[in-house]
Amino acid sequence: MSYRVVEVVIDAPGLFLDKRFDYVLPPALASSVRPGMRVVVPFRSAWKAGVVWRVRSEPEVSSRIRTVASVVDREPVLTEEQLRLAEWLCERYAATLPEALSAILPGAFRVTGRLQLRAASGVDVPDDVLASSTWRLVAREKPDDHAVAKLGAAAKAQIEAWVELGYLERVLHVSEQVQARLQSFLAATKAPDELLRAAAEREARAPRQAALLRQLALTGELAWERKAYHRTTVQPLVAAGLVSVEERPISRYAWPDRDVRPAPELTVHQARAMARLTQLIQAPGLRMAVVHGVTGSGKTEVYMRTIADVIGQGRQAVLLVPEIALTPQMVGRFHSRFGDRIAVLHSALSQGERRDEWARILRGEASIVIGARSAVFAPVRDLGLIIVDEEHEPSYKQEDAPHYDAREVAIRRAEAAAAAVVFGSATPSLWAIRQVEDGCATLVSLPQRANGRPLPRVEIVDMREELRIGNKSLFSERLQQELEATVRSGLQAILFLNRRGYASSTLCRACGDGVQCPHCDIHLTVHRADTGMRLVCHYCGYEQSYSDCCPACGERALRAFGIGTEQIEAAIAALWPDFRVLRMDVDTTRKKGALQRMVADFEAGRADVLIGTQMIAKGLDFPRVRLVGVVAADTMLTLPDYRAHERTFQLLTQVAGRAGRAETDGVTLIQTYRPEHFAIQAAAAHDFAAFYREERSQREFFTYPPFCELAVFLASHPDERVARGAAMRFERELRRSGAIVHMTILPASPSGIRRIDNLYRYQVVLKYGRWQDVGHDVIQSYRLVKERMNRLGGSCRLDVNAQRI
Ligand code: ADP
Ligand code: ZN
Repeated sequence: MSYRVVEVVIDAPGLFLDKRFDYVLPPALASSVRPGMRVVVPFRSAWKAGVVWRVRSEPEVSSRIRTVASVVDREPVLTEEQLRLAEWLCERYAATLPEALSAILPGAFRVTGRLQLRAASGVDVPDDVLASSTWRLVAREKPDDHAVAKLGAAAKAQIEAWVELGYLERVLHVSEQVQARLQSFLAATKAPDELLRAAAEREARAPRQAALLRQLALTGELAWERKAYHRTTVQPLVAAGLVSVEERPISRYAWPDRDVRPAPELTVHQARAMARLTQLIQAPGLRMAVVHGVTGSGKTEVYMRTIADVIGQGRQAVLLVPEIALTPQMVGRFHSRFGDRIAVLHSALSQGERRDEWARILRGEASIVIGARSAVFAPVRDLGLIIVDEEHEPSYKQEDAPHYDAREVAIRRAEAAAAAVVFGSATPSLWAIRQVEDGCATLVSLPQRANGRPLPRVEIVDMREELRIGNKSLFSERLQQELEATVRSGLQAILFLNRRGYASSTLCRACGDGVQCPHCDIHLTVHRADTGMRLVCHYCGYEQSYSDCCPACGERALRAFGIGTEQIEAAIAALWPDFRVLRMDVDTTRKKGALQRMVADFEAGRADVLIGTQMIAKGLDFPRVRLVGVVAADTMLTLPDYRAHERTFQLLTQVAGRAGRAETDGVTLIQTYRPEHFAIQAAAAHDFAAFYREERSQREFFTYPPFCELAVFLASHPDERVARGAAMRFERELRRSGAIVHMTILPASPSGIRRIDNLYRYQVVLKYGRWQDVGHDVIQSYRLVKERMNRLGGSCRLDVNAQRI
């Protein structure tokens, strides 16, 4: 006799990195469990959900090996390819298996169910005891014996005794099957005139039935909302053969309005791009392309046709966008072209919604997956193409563990599936262009706008001049004129500022101090609330009220410095009280659907001015926008990030691209105190090549990506000495390792913000050429330090291929 043993990945953070645990399968489950299914197992004194990694046969097992309690899924929820991908994530990004699996299948380890008692050997247990003796099980937590406690101590002891004696057994019922939610549809089974006749007959005695029939005569079918039509209304109609009821799986995604424009004829450049991409898709092996298309060049149309080609060959395609919520128009266009063949994955989905979409992809019902970063893990079985739109966006890199870059994962998956990858952008990242220079990717260009409109005229406004002429307003005279002219002529304007809140900090004119967060080493941001001005920490959420009285010296000399979006809103209200203004930033778009509503309102002309942070820079297509004003370009240039110039150029280009897209010529004004800066100059001239030349040479000179890769180790702990000690230990370990010849280590130092939420943060930055030369040693040292740090109550992270320091 042999035993079936499963290796299970369990999520018990902090205790181990990638260990797997052996469990034996009870005979009843021996043949049904496969890798990629989830099981519930006893772990220490709790129940835990885990993912089956491997199944093996053993002639004998130790008596100490514990038994799998229950199987969660009927079919694997993770494919073989996804399990291999998880392994790769661990090697590439120093992730743990639970982290990797949770990234691939969010909520993988959160399984709920019930633990029940069952009579095992004919003992006569009263029914009410059996029925009420249930434990709620939430994996992650201890099984509580709450229900038993309710029975009273005596009953509980009796039950425990029976369990001990083997009269009763505990049985787990878990309920986490991947299945689509079904919705009932009512469909007419007779012609409309017949329905209307039947409705007329019922008008007096059954008005609800009549109403339903009239509705169906019009629409043919409708989703059955129980609130609208009770069963007693529907059933007689079904019995009479007028109506049928069908259960169908539905997608719970609320589709944005359909875009009903027909597919346009391709421009010359689009046609040329298509030809290149078609060739690419048909070639064997891994193929990559970078589509560099100016804003409004019609990249979306090219994506849609390329995808149509791929699904026409019976394969599946994945389209990654920076954030689904920010791209409602794009999703709408895809939905109107491809209908139900689309599945949408994004972070705002509920568990149930995600399961539905996941199941549709697994079953092959959806052949196009659209989603943000994590959609790169979608369980497509026959991957033909991955498109990464706006590939330059930082959101493709996950900030938390596993710190993966979706662009790299896309390449990895495409490699495994012999699929193609397309990276699209109006401002390709240095990383993407490097792929082209290295011969790994083909460059495809779309140099003109698809509708023949010119790119907007961009003017740089020197704010130093404004001060000289005594203009202390946020808006230069030029911007004021253009804003006035634009709105008065019935067109729209966008004002961009990459900072939310009212003011970024405070400064006392008497003593020079500002108000700091008591928990973080950072200035508090000023916000305007209904209750008056507030000071808020953007890092830990701390808040206090604002007054001009300096907490340090007591003088009434505290002033707000550094403008934010709220201040722009206030300034417009003061200058032009009749302008209709929308403000779009993190603070105004927290509620579900708020952002979509704002986009729709602005699109429909229900506002004159849209004020926004980088949220508004991405892919939005507003035909009536004439003016774009960048209120302060310098805020981006001075960010402590090696990509500050690149981000500035990208954001300026993207946001300028919102102007003059369809109904009018566009004007963009960039206000700055550093008009001579090359990133600003190049953005104003729409000169990608010039920007790239300068930025590339700086990166090469100072050795920054893409001329090396960075990894950032960060230790945090309430005690500064412990945090610093961990960073120094990590550095020491690495200096002793063989990897040192392949890398440069920047010594342990406080991170950009030394303290957040009362945790001190110390970092070590590594620069190296190829991860495979150093990865092994780096991970080794990292684990050592991390395990020690976990015991000390702190935490460590290692961001491999870091995009910021
Ligand atoms: P991008 O994504 O490159 O910024 P879009 O795909 O949003 O550009 O296209 C910009 C606008 O041009 C959209 O309104 C789109 O409908 C339109 N468009 C795209 N292709 C064509 C075409 N071949 N002819 C006319 N209009 C087009
Ligand atoms: Zn704080």
